[in-house]
This record gives sequence, C-alpha cells and structure tokens, in this order.
Amino acid sequence: MLIIGGGTAGLTVAARLRRKGVRGVAVIEPSAQHFYQPLWTLVGAGAADIASTVRSEADYIPKGTRWIQDRAEEVDPVRQQVLTRGGARLTYDFLVVAPGIQLDWDRVRGLREALKTPYVSSNYDFRLAPKTWEMVRAFQGGTALFTHPATPVKCAGAPQKIMYLVADHLRRSGLTGKSRVVFGSGAKALFGVQPYARVLEGVVDRYGIQTHFSHDLVEVRAHSREAIFAVTRDGRREWVTLGYDLLHVTPPQSAPDFIKRSALAHQDGPNAGWVKAHKHTLQHPDHPNVFAIGDASDLPTSRTGAAIRAEAPVLVENLVAVMEGREPTARYDGYASCPLVTGYGRMLLAEFDYDGRPAPSLPFINTFVERRDLWLLKKYGLPRLYWDWMLRGRA
Ligand SMILES: Cc1cc2nc3c(=O)[nH]c(=O)nc-3n(C[C@H](O)[C@H](O)[C@H](O)COP(=O)(O)OP(=O)(O)OC[C@H]3O[C@@H](n4cnc5c(N)ncnc54)[C@H](O)[C@@H]3O)c2cc1C
Repeated sequence: MLIIGGGTAGLTVAARLRRKGVRGVAVIEPSAQHFYQPLWTLVGAGAADIASTVRSEADYIPKGTRWIQDRAEEVDPVRQQVLTRGGARLTYDFLVVAPGIQLDWDRVRGLREALKTPYVSSNYDFRLAPKTWEMVRAFQGGTALFTHPATPVKCAGAPQKIMYLVADHLRRSGLTGKSRVVFGSGAKALFGVQPYARVLEGVVDRYGIQTHFSHDLVEVRAHSREAIFAVTRDGRREWVTLGYDLLHVTPPQSAPDFIKRSALAHQDGPNAGWVKAHKHTLQHPDHPNVFAIGDASDLPTSRTGAAIRAEAPVLVENLVAVMEGREPTARYDGYASCPLVTGYGRMLLAEFDYDGRPAPSLPFINTFVERRDLWLLKKYGLPRLYWDWMLRGRA
C-alpha cells in the first residue's frame, strides 16, 4: 500500500489507514519538513510567526508506516510500479496519489529575478511569506498590486486575503490616501459562490480596491517595476501594463510534471494533467487499485486542506472496501471551505459543495458575515485542529 506525497492529504490518509489497522503502508515524501500552509497568509501580514507553520515530517509519519524519503518520478499503473529519483523501483498493490500542486514560477517571465528585489513577494512559498511582511512594512505609499493567475490555484481565496490585510494595514498606518490597492486577476470574478462573493464585493468597495478581471500576469519587469498582463477582449489578446511599488504574486499552478506525463492523468481536455478520480468515490476510473486525493486530483472542488479533511475519510473507507473485494460506496459531496480573512481580526467562512451550494458546518454562528471569533478560529483553532487531529487521522 503506497502513498505518493506526505503532505496534508498523504499524511491524513496514512494516519487513517493505520487507525483502521491496515498494514504495510509506505509514504514517498522527499521533504524532511511538513508545512501548515494556510497560516502563510497571516505570516505575510505580520500576524503569525513562520516558525509555527513548520514541523518535522518524521513526527507525523504514523507509527508502523514506512517513510521513503525520495521523490516519485514515474508511475506505471499497469506494472503497478513507481520509479523514484533515487533509482528505486517500488511495486504496490494499492496506490494513493497525493503529490499536491506544482508552482510554475517560470511561466511568468522575469518573476524569479523580480522576487530577488525588495518590492516583490509571494505567500505561496515558505521562504517568501516572511518577506511579504517586510515588504509591506517598508511600503510608504504608491501602488500595491496583487495578482491571481488564470490557472487553478490552491486556496483560491489566498491571493485576495493578503490584499485585504494589506489594505487594512495601510488604513491603520494612515497610508490610505497615499496609496492605491489594485487586484489583477486571471479569474472572471472575485469568488465563485454567492453569497460569499457579495460580501467580498462589499469588502473591495470598503477598501477602495481597483479590480481588473481576466488579467493574467505574464511578465514582471523588475527594473521598471511593471507587471504585464495578458487580457483577452472580444477574442483578441492584448497586453496591459500596470506599475507597482509593492507586488504580491500568486504563481500559475498545475499538476506535478511527473503526473502530467503518467497514464494516471487526463491527456487532454479541460482537466489535462490532473489525476483522474471519481468525483464521489475518489477511485481512479481506469485503475481500480488507485485512488487520488487533494490538490493533484481532478476533483472539481476548491483545492484546500478543508476539502481534504472531507475527502480523506471517504477515500479510506472506499480503499479498505476495495482491498476487501467490496464495492466502494462512501461518497464525497465536494465539501470545501475557505476562511476568507478580510482584515485584521475579521473573517467570514465560505463553505460549499460541488453544486456551489453554501454548506455551513459550524453550529450557532452566522459564518456568512465578517467576525472576530472566526479570525481567532483561523489563527489558533484551525492550526491546532490540523496538527493534533487531522494529521493524526482523528478529525
Ligand atoms: C498561501 C496559502 C494559503 C492557504 N490557505 C488555506 C486555507 O486557508 N484553508 C485551506 O483549507 N487550505 C489552504 N491552503 C491550501 C492547502 O494548504 C492545500 O490545499 C493542501 O495543503 C493540499 O494538500 P496536498 O496533500 O494535496 O498537497 P501538499 O500539502 O502541498 O503536499 C504535497 C506533498 O507531496 C510532496 N511531493 C511533491 N512531489 C512529489 C513527488 N514527486 N514524489 C513524492 N512526493 C512529492 C511534497 O513534498 C508535499 O509534501 C493554502 C495554501 C497556501 C499556499
């Protein structure tokens, strides 16, 4: 029983399998560190410490599970083999595919160079999230530009959460009059699910943020501090240049390259590159001994840890059923949530299913409005839930 990836999904599945008494579980994971990525938003806003987001991978590999500290390079689902960078040829009876999403920094020309300057950062990288806060603190006015690519991303709210926090910071620092906050987004709207989108539109108005939709960042010119966006209007592609004094980039993202090349992925169509998984059972449609979960899968939900928390119990139940020769009958309904931080001490919680229907899960409180208790949940409650419960296979 092999799991590719020991991130949020891989470790949660491993822990749940071990709790069910499944033996012979192995996890391929190259990194010696495990990250709680959702807190990087607060790190970038100076509201959390980066050290609190990282722990040792070894401490979260469940007892009785073998950790193969290597990187999967090739998957052959017919021979039931995984080749690793270290040269190992691992065979499996059952496979769980959970290598996460790939950050394609090089798809934006000049971005890597620009990230070396003091004016450009990204919360999407552990090393850069603290730099975001340094950059924000040093900002004394001008244009603060935030981007969201045209590709799928993990946590679609994260590109704008940091924007709201910075806008709030500027207000608190008396810099609002001297600055302009601009959102350049490859998406068509702020958020796909009403009524959360309506609340966010109100937040954008409150801060006076300028929004540019269907604007896909393609180049950063660090020397002139300009961001170039590809914009498609009436079927014609044009280029729009926006200047910046502070730039927060959310990089384009895609399935990991070794997945794109493998027979597990869609070869073409809108889901090209992502691992195929039945949207309710998480089982691979062509290879019944393979399951996929998390950001690398084609599940049409929001790529979040919250979605994985709902996917993992279903996957494990179905995998155990298949191991025992039964039909997989547990169903995932697409539940995902996104804690939408809208300022310091303010948050609403978007929760929804595959049909884009709101699916609030917290009893007694109205999660559709900005609240301080939800901010406290994000800052203190959810990290604890993650480290102590979810990764241990208990929640
Ligand atoms: C800035 C930011 C804010 C976010 N905010 C939220 C939030 O508020 N709420 C929320 O629910 N989610 C949030 N997320 C998203 C959440 O962190 C991810 O959706 C989640 O971690 C995905 O889990 P995963 O297991 O699919 O991928 P990951 O957790 O990224 O794990 C993938 C693992 O696979 C490993 N791997 C990669 N390639 C290979 C290979 N070839 N072989 C073997 N292993 C490999 C990697 O080293 C990694 O450990 C946020 C993410 C970011 C970056």
